[in-house]
Amino acid sequence: MPTLSHRTAGFTDSVIRRMTRISNRYGAINLSQGFPDFEPPKEILDRLREVCSEDFHQYSITWGAQNFREALAAKQSRLMGFPIDPDREIVVTCGSTEAMMAAMMTVVDPGDKVIVFSPFYENYAADAILSGAEPIYVPLTPPAFGFDADVLEAAFCQRPKALILCNPSNPCGKVFTLEELKLIASLAEKYDAYVITDEVYEHIVYEPYRHIYFASLPGMRERTVCCSSLSKTYSVTGWRLGYIIAPEAVIEPAKKIHDFLTVGAAAPLQEAAVTGLCFPDSYYEALKHSYTIRRDLLLKGLDDLEIRHTVPQGAYYVLLDISEFGYDSDLEFCERMAERVGVGAVPGSSFFREPVNHLIRLHFAKKEETLYAALDRLSSFREKMRR
Ligand code: GLN
Repeated sequence: MPTLSHRTAGFTDSVIRRMTRISNRYGAINLSQGFPDFEPPKEILDRLREVCSEDFHQYSITWGAQNFREALAAKQSRLMGFPIDPDREIVVTCGSTEAMMAAMMTVVDPGDKVIVFSPFYENYAADAILSGAEPIYVPLTPPAFGFDADVLEAAFCQRPKALILCNPSNPCGKVFTLEELKLIASLAEKYDAYVITDEVYEHIVYEPYRHIYFASLPGMRERTVCCSSLSKTYSVTGWRLGYIIAPEAVIEPAKKIHDFLTVGAAAPLQEAAVTGLCFPDSYYEALKHSYTIRRDLLLKGLDDLEIRHTVPQGAYYVLLDISEFGYDSDLEFCERMAERVGVGAVPGSSFFREPVNHLIRLHFAKKEETLYAALDRLSSFREKMRR
């Protein structure tokens, strides 16, 4: 048979998603792939029930149902601080996964370079391969996950077409400061690059940190391709509702890429989700509060067990330091942990460009009882994970 495309040889399957399958195999509490085990808001589910018997079973407009885009534009204009045109500046996609892929394919030609901070969410490497982009990695150095301005400028000197900014960051929980964002903005301007943002954790930020939308910085609206989704904000990761917000000149070609890739996001789900997009600001305050409780619960439990960990400023992940166990492979560690301890984690090496294998990632988008059960299992962590 003829060979398959070279493109597919460039990457493995997603380790995050693989760890969910491994967790399921061992009946482990799955703190690997980040998704909630609690229900989405009742109002959204009630609306979904009604939608079943209404007329939403055929395609919506390819770049998103009109009322969904209008509700999204109203919410994001309020939060981002500038008016967003629902007809010209939004494409609704199948999750932010498609949004990021479509954004990359819109901005980047094969052979172009893109800056990616490391650690990074693993999809970006695959997005780069699929769009033909060549990543330039810039380290975010633990424990504070800051970056070196000179290293970043050296990366910009290679004339990248874009920088990918995950803020708040998966997996390190960093929330970029205004100063850091301004520095990135000045370099993007100086070297004339786009900034493609992944802001899916925009509402999951812990006190005293604040999320700043990159597009809201002076002069950045024109060069920012903002990707986000409803998955984390409304606990509907399986609905696959994401979007791109960008100036019309970017959205026009992005609409075409999206159309030929997927035609459109699920019409009934868009209709039901409009309910969530119209929630008052108190909803987002409550979401933040509930995630703060989950974060504090897990961190306290890890402290009690004397397991060293990061303290996330945003998003819902914590990195645990497993260097004391002396494993060469963090993947092997995570597989064993799922089997022996009964808790699923993601090996840190799947997020880092650098040879890091002493970190594993847990997420805490889980009911408090699930987190307590996981901590209970982790109490035998040291004993069971000894080599
Ligand atoms: N963002 C989530 C994670 O990092 C999962 C995303 C996904 O699997 N599509 O675990």
